[in-house]
Amino acid sequence: EAKSTGKSRACLFRPEMAASFRRRTELENEMREGLANGQFELHYQPIVEIASRKVVALEALLRWNHPAKGPISPAEFIPIAERSDLISDLGEWVFERAAIDIVRLPAEVSISVNVSPMQFRQPGRLVAALRSIIEKRNVPADRLELELTESVLVDDPDKTLETMAELRSFGLRFSLDDFGTGYASIGYLATYSFDKVKIDRSFASVISENEASRSIVELVQHLAERIGFTVVAEGLETKVQVEAIAATGICLAQGYFFGKPEPIGPLAERLSASTTVPEA
Ligand code: C2E
Ligand code: MG
Ligand code: MG
Ligand code: MG
Repeated sequence: EAKSTGKSRACLFRPEMAASFRRRTELENEMREGLANGQFELHYQPIVEIASRKVVALEALLRWNHPAKGPISPAEFIPIAERSDLISDLGEWVFERAAIDIVRLPAEVSISVNVSPMQFRQPGRLVAALRSIIEKRNVPADRLELELTESVLVDDPDKTLETMAELRSFGLRFSLDDFGTGYASIGYLATYSFDKVKIDRSFASVISENEASRSIVELVQHLAERIGFTVVAEGLETKVQVEAIAATGICLAQGYFFGKPEPIGPLAERLSASTTVPEA
């Protein structure tokens, strides 16, 4: 009696909710083990100069090859990691891996690493960890860039400025990721000194058809020229999109049109032969 009542009540919460809660809990528990057991790897995607097709940087993108569940997208596991200290463990692993991989690349190619807003909420830990990796690995820190999202700037502007200044003193550089989707106003571009601003992928598909979106992208490029940062257009998939972006004066781009994320091995080999990506 009581059992069946409990069952029908549970149904009010919908079985798929229970399933997704269970999956999240499992992933959270398995992530730590996966990190210790080599289930994570980095893939790298080129950022290229549109005119010359020269690769100027690679973005490090985290991959989880789960032994039973198969490949899991960072879009799924990063938010789970962000609920605990796991995100800092993952983030530090990513930074160290990138610091190891960078010596396999030509000197003119840098690596950019995504940093979670949650890592910025523990600035002491972040600064100490990155400092120790840079010293231990003896890396050229000026070839490593940190990608931050707008939410970091909104969270605690003063603390973020202070943390960025400390990290910058090691030689690290900064990109503002996914620009145009979050909460940050254009004023942030003046307050924080970013080396690069990455225009979100959602602009790529609409820029050739939508006048207003094109105007926003042109405005950012105009500010870049005045303030002194470099714009990267993200998520370019077609020649039409590349041409529309190039017409705004933007010089750097990233997207499947120029190359998909892939492991360092084959990519480093091709880059040591030539830093130019082939015509798609
Ligand atoms: P993001 O930093 O904006 O990275 C770009 C995402 O767009 C990547 O997805 C990349 O594979 C995808 N992408 C690149 N070019 C194209 C394109 O032409 N078309 C389409 N449709 N997609 C394209 P990915 O690798 O699935 O990563 C998703 C997000 O997960 C990243 O967005 C980033 O926010 C987060 N992420 C990935 N690796 C890390 C990491 O190591 N640490 C942290 N904190 N976040 C990470
Ligand atoms: Mg990124
Ligand atoms: Mg992005
Ligand atoms: Mg994104």
